[in-house]
Amino acid sequence: MSAQKIDGTALAASIRSEISTRASRFSDRMGRPPGLTVVVVGNNPASAVYVRNKVKACEAAGFHSELIALPQECSEAELLSVVDRLNADPAIDGILVQLPLPDQIDDQRVIEAISAEKDVDGFHIENAGALMTGAPVFRPCTPYGVMKMLEHMGASLRGAEAVVVGASNIVGKPMAMLLLRAGATVTLCNSKTRDLGAHTRRADILIAAVGRPQMITAEMVKPGAIVIDVGINRLADGRLVGDVDTDGVAQVAAAVSPVPGGVGPMTIAMLLVNTMESAERKLR
Ligand code: NDP
Repeated sequence: MSAQKIDGTALAASIRSEISTRASRFSDRMGRPPGLTVVVVGNNPASAVYVRNKVKACEAAGFHSELIALPQECSEAELLSVVDRLNADPAIDGILVQLPLPDQIDDQRVIEAISAEKDVDGFHIENAGALMTGAPVFRPCTPYGVMKMLEHMGASLRGAEAVVVGASNIVGKPMAMLLLRAGATVTLCNSKTRDLGAHTRRADILIAAVGRPQMITAEMVKPGAIVIDVGINRLADGRLVGDVDTDGVAQVAAAVSPVPGGVGPMTIAMLLVNTMESAERKLR
C-alpha cells in the first residue's frame, strides 16, 4: 500500500483565502481590519521564523498585523505592561506571545495576563478549561489544524481508536480533548508510557507530537491508519523531519501528513481563523 499524502499546504491556502474574504467583509462593516499582535522576546532563531511567517500570513489575509520585538533581557514587568496595553486596544482582536520566553519571565504568568477574549493561541486557563468542559472559545491552533485536516479527509472519528503520542499543554492534551469531543476513544501517551507500540498499533487515527525525529516507524502503525505528524525536528544535516518515518509508514498507513507541508501551514491558517472569529464576535 502507498498512503495518501495529506496536503496541509493546499488546505491551509483554501482556509486562508476564505478568511481573507471574511476579513474584507469585516473591514467594510467595522471600518477597520481584524488585528493581531505578535510579541516576541529575545532572538531565538526558530521563533523568529515562525513569527515572521505568522505576520506575513496575516498581512496576506488583509489583517492589521503588528510585531513587537522585545530584547532578550526584557523584564516580566515590561512584558506584562505591553500585554496590558494590547488588552485595552480596541483595534487588536488577537494577542500572541511567542513561547518559549527567556528564563527571567514566567510563561504561565504572561499567558494568564492576556485577556481570554484575545487569547488566539487558546493557552489561557479559561480557554483550556472551556475546551475541557465542552464550550471551547479558542481551540489551540495546532490541534485545531489537525482536526480540520481529519475533517477535510472525511475521517470517521466517532467510535474510532485515536492515539496521541505526546501530552504537552499546547499540542497533545488539547488534541486529545478535541478528538474526545468528536467521539473518538482516546489514548494519550507520554514519555513514561510502557510499550508505546502496543498503543500505537491499535490506532485508527495516530497523532505524533513528541519532538523526536522519525520515532514512529512502520511496525508501530496499524494497516489502514491515518497518521498525522505534528513534529518538527531539524537533523544535523539541516533536513527538517517530523516524528514519523514517513516513507516507511506510507507503506502501511492509509494516509500520512508530510513534514514540511502538513500540520505546520495548518497551524498558521488556524491562527487566522481564531483571530477572525475573535473579531467577528464584536459584530454580534
Ligand atoms: P513538548 O516537548 O512540550 O512535549 C513533548 C511530549 O512528548 C511530552 O508530553 C513528553 O512526555 C512526550 N514524549 C517525549 N518522549 C516520548 C516518548 N519516547 N514516547 C512518548 N512520548 C514522549 O513538545 P511540544 O508538544 O511543544 O511539541 C512536540 C513536537 O511538535 C515538537 O517537534 C514541536 O516542534 C512540534 N510542534 C509543531 C507545531 C506545528 O505547527 N507543526 C506546533 C507546535 C509544536 P512527558 O509529558 O512525559 O514529558
